Amino acid sequence: MVRADFETQTDDRVTVVDITDDVADALPADASGTCTVFVRHTTAAVSVNEAEPRLLDDIETAVAGLVPESGWHHDELDGNADAHLRSMFLGRDVTLPVVDGSLDLGTWQSVLLVECDGPRTRTVTVVCE
Ligand code: ZN
Repeated sequence: MVRADFETQTDDRVTVVDITDDVADALPADASGTCTVFVRHTTAAVSVNEAEPRLLDDIETAVAGLVPESGWHHDELDGNADAHLRSMFLGRDVTLPVVDGSLDLGTWQSVLLVECDGPRTRTVTVVCE
């Protein structure tokens, strides 16, 4: 097993960042099998989809609409229950195929970090097995 971490900066409360190149750079040159990409936070998520700019805008709009912004018990603590709930529905990890040190993604697939409570610096872990 090989593990690597990288950080990525987000610039809005709800936003999508294409982290495909960062994940690819974290892979050992001789890796083959699978890698898990895991975001180490409770208000961000990871997904795989097309990184077309208009679609990324649509994803941000859809994610923001997943749950109402207010009216949650957790808001009494730090005001971000909506972010926790959005990230929980989206998931905190993806498993991807790796061949000869490269991600084996489909033509239109990119690895996307979905920020639900930014702007923040996020840590992403890549584990190859
Ligand atoms: Zn919280």
